[in-house]
Amino acid sequence: MSSNAAGSRWTPLIILTLVAALVTVIGLWAADKAGQHISGQSSETAAATNQQRFEWKIVTTWPKNLPGLGSGPENFARYINEMSGGRMTARVYGAGEIVPAFEVFDAVSQGVADAGHGASYYWKGKIPASVFFTAIPFGMTAQEMNAWFHYGGGLELWAEAYAPSNVVPLSGGSSGVQMAGWFNREINSLDDLQGLKMRIPGLAGEVFATVGGTSVRIPGGEIYTSLQTGVIDAVEWVGPYNDLALGLHQVAKYYYYPGWHEPGAMLEFIVNKDSLAALPQELQAIVRYAARSANQDMLDEFTARNNAALKDLVENHGVQLRRLPDDVLQALYDGSQVVMQQLIDGDPMAAKVYASYKSFYDNVRAYHHISEQAYINARDVVIENSDMTVTE
Ligand code: CA
Repeated sequence: MSSNAAGSRWTPLIILTLVAALVTVIGLWAADKAGQHISGQSSETAAATNQQRFEWKIVTTWPKNLPGLGSGPENFARYINEMSGGRMTARVYGAGEIVPAFEVFDAVSQGVADAGHGASYYWKGKIPASVFFTAIPFGMTAQEMNAWFHYGGGLELWAEAYAPSNVVPLSGGSSGVQMAGWFNREINSLDDLQGLKMRIPGLAGEVFATVGGTSVRIPGGEIYTSLQTGVIDAVEWVGPYNDLALGLHQVAKYYYYPGWHEPGAMLEFIVNKDSLAALPQELQAIVRYAARSANQDMLDEFTARNNAALKDLVENHGVQLRRLPDDVLQALYDGSQVVMQQLIDGDPMAAKVYASYKSFYDNVRAYHHISEQAYINARDVVIENSDMTVTE
C-alpha cells in the first residue's frame, strides 16, 4: 500500500522528467538535422556553381577565319575554352552568320551575342568618341596605344563611353602601322586625290574629304568586289599580310605608305555587361586575361608576317610600292586638325577623351623621339655606313 502510495506520489515527477528528456533529445536531433541540411545545401550550391556551364556567342565584323584581324576572336575563344577547362565554351561567328558586320555592336549591346570583335571607329555615328579607341590620323602607334589603354586611363574612358550601351570594351589586338592603301592610279600631288572615292573609315575618312576625296564605308568582306567593279577607286584595309589575304593586289596596282590614318589601329573585344556579370569571378578573370593575351598576340603575328607578305606582293605580283608625297601628307595632317576640332567641339565625351589622349600622346612622343625613333634612325645609319659584317 505504502509503496503504491509512494509510487503514485513520484509518478508525475518521473513523467515530467522523461518528457523533458524526450523534448531535449528531439530538439538536439532536429537542430542536428537542420545543421546537416544547411551545410549540405551550401556544399551542393558550390558544386552546382562549379558544374554550371557557360556558352558564349562571339560575333565579328570580319569574314570567318580571316587571317590577321580574324585571328583576334579565334584566339580569344580558344584561350577561354582552354583556360576554363571546358566550363565555358566560346564560339566565333563571322560577319553575316548571326548579324551583318556593322550590326555587331548592337547585337552585343542587346544580348543577341555575348561578345564581339571589330573596330570601335565603326560606331562613330552612334558614339563619336569611339574613334579614339581605334586610331587617330597621325596619332599614337600600337605600343603607345597599349600604354595609354592599360597605364594611361584610356580603357577606363572607353568603358565610360560604352557604359550607356551595356557594353564592356577590352583591347582586341593591333595591326601596328598600316599601309596608306591601294590606288588604281599614282598619287603625285593633291590634284590626284580630287574626286577619288576611297574606302577609308573613322576620322580619316572625314580628313580625306578635306583634301577633295570622298570616303565610303564598306566592311572587309565587300572591299575586293567594290574595287574590282569600280564602286571605289582606292581602299585602305590593313597591311601586307591582311591585304594579300583579301587579294587586293589583283584589283589595284599602286600600294602606298605610310599609314598616316592608322598608325597603330587597335581592335576591340566588346562584351555584353550582363553576360559578363553572370559568370563566376574566376571565369570573368579568364575572359579578361584571354582578351589581353589575344590583344598582344595579334601585334606579334602582324609584325612577324608583314615582311614576307610585302616581299611576295612586290616580287611575285608586280605591286608598285610608293610613298605618299610630303605635301600630300602635310595637307592630310592639316585636315586632321580641322576634323578633330569639329569632333571635340560637337561632343563633350569626345572632348574628354581627347584631353586624355593628347596629354598622353605629347608625353610619350617626347620620350619616343629620343628612344624608339632615335634608335630606329640610328641603326639604319650605322648599318648602311659600316663595312663590317658578321660571317655566319
Ligand atoms: Ca585600316
